[in-house]
Amino acid sequence: MTFGKRQETVRPSDGMHRTICGNCPAGCGLKVFVLNGRVVDIFGDEDHPVNKGSVCPKGLLACLALTAPRHLTQPRIRDRLQEDFRTVDWSEALEFVTGRLSLVMSQAGPEAVHVIGAESDPFEYLSAATLFAARLGAGSAPFQFFPPALGDAGRLHRMLGVSGARLQMNPPRDWAASRGILIYRSDPAAAAPMTFGPVLDARDRGTWVGVIDSRRTISAARANQALVVAPGTESLALKALLRLMVDRGAINPDFVSEWTTDLDGLRRSLAGVEPGAVAAACRVTPAALESMARQLASRRPLQVVAADTASRAYLADDELCLAASLVALTGSIGVPGGGLNLLAVSPFNWARTASAAGDRQPRPPLDLGRLLISASPGQAFMAYGNPLAHLRGGQAPRDALARAGLVVRLACGPGAFDDFAHVVLPMTWWLESDGLLATSNGRMLQWQRRVATPPPGCRNPLAVWAEISARLRLEGGSAAGDAAGWADDLLGADPLTTAASVTALDPEANPPGGLLWPCTQAQDLTLENSRFVRGNSRGRHILFLPWSSFGGSDKRFPTPGGRIVFQPVEAPFAPVGTDADHPLALTIGAVVDATTVFGPHLSNHPPHRPRPLVRIHPRTARAIGVSAGDRLTVANARGAFSAPAQIADELPEGLLFCPEGLDHRVPDFHGLPPAALFALPAPGQPLAAYTPVTAYAEGSDPGRARRALARLLAGDRQGPTPFPLRPPEDLP
Ligand code: SF4
Repeated sequence: MTFGKRQETVRPSDGMHRTICGNCPAGCGLKVFVLNGRVVDIFGDEDHPVNKGSVCPKGLLACLALTAPRHLTQPRIRDRLQEDFRTVDWSEALEFVTGRLSLVMSQAGPEAVHVIGAESDPFEYLSAATLFAARLGAGSAPFQFFPPALGDAGRLHRMLGVSGARLQMNPPRDWAASRGILIYRSDPAAAAPMTFGPVLDARDRGTWVGVIDSRRTISAARANQALVVAPGTESLALKALLRLMVDRGAINPDFVSEWTTDLDGLRRSLAGVEPGAVAAACRVTPAALESMARQLASRRPLQVVAADTASRAYLADDELCLAASLVALTGSIGVPGGGLNLLAVSPFNWARTASAAGDRQPRPPLDLGRLLISASPGQAFMAYGNPLAHLRGGQAPRDALARAGLVVRLACGPGAFDDFAHVVLPMTWWLESDGLLATSNGRMLQWQRRVATPPPGCRNPLAVWAEISARLRLEGGSAAGDAAGWADDLLGADPLTTAASVTALDPEANPPGGLLWPCTQAQDLTLENSRFVRGNSRGRHILFLPWSSFGGSDKRFPTPGGRIVFQPVEAPFAPVGTDADHPLALTIGAVVDATTVFGPHLSNHPPHRPRPLVRIHPRTARAIGVSAGDRLTVANARGAFSAPAQIADELPEGLLFCPEGLDHRVPDFHGLPPAALFALPAPGQPLAAYTPVTAYAEGSDPGRARRALARLLAGDRQGPTPFPLRPPEDLP
């Protein structure tokens, strides 16, 4: 950490620009030193409220990405997937795209065109692609592929009047004011290290940090207390904790009576939750549950942190509703250091943007795997980056993709999606173009400046959608590349960002850090000077302030009655991996040390070399005769893959963990068949976090391994050998 230290380059330079790192959702401020328009050095911005001068290696080395040989610089096309790509100019590439789009639409209508998106795609892609899909009447639009569980239709929305996609009550700079922080089913220490810094700062000042997860994550290793439960029982544990707290009256009666309704309904839904039985199902001791309940009840203000970009896809609305009940019962809402603080939030409502642009179709959430399987051959798919990283369903959706009439990929670097693409269009890297950044881990809007000259062949997504729209003669068109005008229009049109503008966000004209949204009135553009604020950012730190209404509403909680409405959550939660054929649960991690341009630049193994691995508990490995480095076969009815075993006691015995995700090109997963093991979520449901599987030493008898696993898991259920945790402090 380099707090307060002013950092200057020692290399020759003729200027310095402030901008925002675009490598992850933390949104750190950078000082970029240039010479003759070329980046020569990058430092953290000491004046930026997120990183205060510190910067992680990914941000520091971002200048290398500009000259990385993996940076795509020329459009490529091919008529059929069996052919090699040929390099062409932009005009020929876009002619090819629009020609094929016209052909697809002449045969099957605009509904046969699908514009795919992911929450981590750049703002310019998402916004322009959404308008393109709306104006074309495309069969799908980018926002339909976002994780559906936290949207407007769920219980969380009914409870608080705000969808989970926007629910960060107190941003990270406020977390030092917490007395308790519960990290639920997420690993921000791995997925968002800079966002985890405030948790560590708070812990070092005496804040209790607890974790509920089925793995001993990096966050768990840094916590005071971790409840490591059986896979699939995290929400059951949370429900039992609520039951213990409600039974003992460990709630804030003033807040509950003034600001909530239907506590009785919540009580009734908790009545069947017997903590002893829950402890057995979760494979923890009743004392461990009791201990965590005591901490949660006594640590006010309390906040729950969950739903980072990696975990969000499988966190269910219902379980986050339980987390919201926890902070509401303790009265930890609308105060410093409290709240339900989801990461990966955004102020933008793309469905509303699409319908304002004339979109007349209902657009329910879609699962890409299901869509691909159900699509007839010859349809068109357009995407940014690598949608395969999120694609579930095994080989079938990939086979369907290979039968598409047109697949277009917009990207900065190579990726596994190239294997299915007819067209690859080279995009500018974030240092090479202006753009809006909705910093999803900090409820911030920021402006990213162009500080480097892009290679001549690269374009930003706005220009691409503008030209495709013009060639198809779509009404309304699209911005031809004026990112600032485009951003101003969209900011002004959204009720949660209507007071923001590019001028107000520019880090060279204003204090770095952008604006916290909601920013709906002029006072949101100034440094907040309430008694709560300890930082130097502009806008509202606390979402549900007692004397203030939520943006775009006249109520503090924009529910019909203006109060929090407790939701009974009855859904059954079952442990995964209990059937005889599939005694184990497999889960995958997110790669945090790779970018689309670099590949895995922080890993200690070279790019392009297959090195997949599967983590397995030592007792589980011993039961099936596997030693470290032996090849382990992981299988279920959909298929199998083999990879070296990594013995690690950070997992429960019933869990296998692929830490580096499944994309076989970024980072380097050539060794795995594509995501053969993962089930498709039901429409509108979150992804399954766990897939039931079995495992055995490659070449050995699967039946024998299955019997050994059954014996192991039926017997000793004590979970992993604990590694040292900070001892819980005595209760006050
Ligand atoms: S933490 Fe994220 S935003 Fe900050 S420097 Fe690293 S990659 Fe960039």
